Amino acid sequence: MWRKVWSVHVPPKCLNFVWRALNVAIPCVTLLKRRNLHVEGLCPFCHSSEEDEFHVLVYCDFARACWLSFAVGFRFSQCMRFRHWFTSMLNVLRGSDVQILVVTLWLIWEARNALFWNDKRMTPLQVARRALNFLNSWLQANSTPVTSAVSFPPEKWSKPPHSLLKLNVNGALFDGLFVDLGIVVRDSLGSFVNAM
Ligand SMILES: [Zn+2]
Repeated sequence: MWRKVWSVHVPPKCLNFVWRALNVAIPCVTLLKRRNLHVEGLCPFCHSSEEDEFHVLVYCDFARACWLSFAVGFRFSQCMRFRHWFTSMLNVLRGSDVQILVVTLWLIWEARNALFWNDKRMTPLQVARRALNFLNSWLQANSTPVTSAVSFPPEKWSKPPHSLLKLNVNGALFDGLFVDLGIVVRDSLGSFVNAM
């Protein structure tokens, strides 16, 4: 696994963060409590669970909404350990999707720190867009940008049957609510009918 991790072509600070998360070494609340540091509180996003690396990066509603913002099929397995989840993602994802995975993990942690330390809240869609922009900017300076693997919304669209309308929804779910929700309605000719 380690060889695969370190071969991912992303900014070194993102790889370094994932390496620390895999070694249960990011300073989330549970780790600080375990080290007998005086820290109060739960996960800063949902305030309902203990914050460990699996919860804050994968399982929390905020993290899930970040992952669901991508067209890539990021999955949520039954395991409750970050290392197991990350390894299973490495086994199913290919190419640029792995780069997005690593950069998004780092940016979810950045969003967590902005909230935890500075009370600044980002939306999941902002995190996902920032991940793409950040990765593309870095790749443009270092190699080739990512354009094909991820899209907002998914690229392929098919017309509905005759006399029916098709409604496409694009959004992110956080704390039980859709944020940045977009809806487009088209008819069987593919013509625009309405949007909200
Ligand atoms: Zn949470």
